[in-house]
Amino acid sequence: MMEKIKGSIMDTVENIFAQARQTGAQPVSFEIFPPKGELSMESAHTIAQELAKLDPAFISVTYSAGGSGNKQATAEIAAMIQDDHGIPAVAHLTCAGASQQSISAAIADMRDRGIRNVLALRGDLPEGYESGDFRYAKDLIPVLADAGFCVGAAAYPEGHIDCDSLRLNVEHLRQKQDAGASFLVTQLFFDNDCFYRFREGAEAAGITVPITAGIMPFMSKAQIQRMVFMCGASLPSPIIKLLARYEDDPASLRQAGIEYACRQLTDLQAHGVEGLHVYTMNNPEIARAASCALKVALVS
Ligand code: FAD
Repeated sequence: MMEKIKGSIMDTVENIFAQARQTGAQPVSFEIFPPKGELSMESAHTIAQELAKLDPAFISVTYSAGGSGNKQATAEIAAMIQDDHGIPAVAHLTCAGASQQSISAAIADMRDRGIRNVLALRGDLPEGYESGDFRYAKDLIPVLADAGFCVGAAAYPEGHIDCDSLRLNVEHLRQKQDAGASFLVTQLFFDNDCFYRFREGAEAAGITVPITAGIMPFMSKAQIQRMVFMCGASLPSPIIKLLARYEDDPASLRQAGIEYACRQLTDLQAHGVEGLHVYTMNNPEIARAASCALKVALVS
């Protein structure tokens, strides 16, 4: 049986990881994004219902500061996950281009809805952006921590696209911990060795808060290209071979992507990662496959 981590919905993510450290368990969590369109709350509810059946330690909900998403929906969906499905939720919040007032309003809204956990992010910089009230995520973190939230932050095993140096990448992460982040969620990666090297460097730099590894299965060639372009994720040779093998067979490539992600997750589990965070892309099939692979690996 997969070790059970879930506590009461009043648990903060910090507490969930503290309990896990005591028992040696590895919390499994999911990420979703606010669905678009008229039925967005209804579809979010259906997705959350399917994910809740898998009993994740928590579900995080992304925040879209740009025009394409519905930023108001993040807190609403996070509250629905807690209230209707009994799963702790993490609301993402970005600060690039935000004013002190807009962040105060977001804090008041999240408080009113009973949200306890927030992932503090800078967000991608809007075109032509010069400066705002918050320069980096580390400037948002203490504001959220002072407001009483359990605050998490983003980590980049292969570095961040705006920062050339892996040493500075870890130094900036350390600043987020110093500012009050009590857990870290990584950017997706396809090569676990990158994560293991990063984890070693983070430990050496004095990062002591739990780091949960973010894994996203590739579902198509176009999606992989986007991820490589946007996140700078490196492609190990097994993926390049899969891309060549299934070039004309998108269904098999999709299946191979899910299987590859499951192998990554079980390898991370075996290497004692503190937590596993699955980017579900709002697809419960991905979450089911990941949960199933992790359970099978634990009993075998
Ligand atoms: P920061 O930590 O502020 O870092 C931004 C850049 O500044 C980095 O290159 C960093 O190295 C550099 N930096 C940091 N501190 C300093 C310093 N003191 N001096 C000089 N340089 C510094 N985006 C969304 O819009 N919505 C989401 O919901 C969302 N969720 C995410 C979840 C996860 C787990 C991850 C990994 C990313 C997510 N993102 C999301 C993307 C994220 O917003 C972008 O990667 C963004 O470009 C950086 O955000 P950050 O919080 O890591 O920024």
